[in-house]
Amino acid sequence: MNLILFGPPGAGKGTQAALIVDKYKLVHLSTGDLLRHEMSSSTELGKEISEIINSGKLVSDHHVLKMIKIFIENNKKSNGFLFDGFPRNQDQANLLDKLLADLDLKITSVILLEVDKESLRERILSRSQKEGRADDNEETLIKRLEVYFSETEPVIAHYSNKGLVKSIDGVGEINDINQRINSILDLV
Ligand code: AMP
Repeated sequence: MNLILFGPPGAGKGTQAALIVDKYKLVHLSTGDLLRHEMSSSTELGKEISEIINSGKLVSDHHVLKMIKIFIENNKKSNGFLFDGFPRNQDQANLLDKLLADLDLKITSVILLEVDKESLRERILSRSQKEGRADDNEETLIKRLEVYFSETEPVIAHYSNKGLVKSIDGVGEINDINQRINSILDLV
């Protein structure tokens, strides 16, 4: 099973991703986590991208795709992938199709976590106090939401045209949201 988890910043993708990969024994591929790891390890890439991430814009496809390719190659014997935070634009979606086709793999389902803007704002600002992420502030959040709605949300059509998208109400208790996701994935 290969899944994509879509949703705006603050929708709870990271939290739900951890529960999904545990239950369905998938490998979690979060481009945000991989990029933050590069930054905290102060690699060349990490230094180059920190300003971009902290401004809420997208890192170049070139950097992200290189990382993704290596990650998929290293984990191609796994049970499947959960893509979280990727693809973020149409070019990335096309490249993911190609990468998976080369490995004879396919996307099984796309989970879309739907959360209203006010709840997103509250969650991001509360996360900023707990986790201290430099991009979890009001100004960057506005940019991240703008980027999500202009570049990422249109990509959902790429998958709904293939009948793969399942929308989930992402507001409520973590376990209730997880049950909503499981009830759909158990039927896949
Ligand atoms: P996230 O943890 O998914 O919210 O990602 C945090 C930040 O990392 C984003 O605001 C982007 O700057 C960058 N990022 C994460 N995934 C991607 C991606 N697939 N393409 C480009 N930039 C990304």
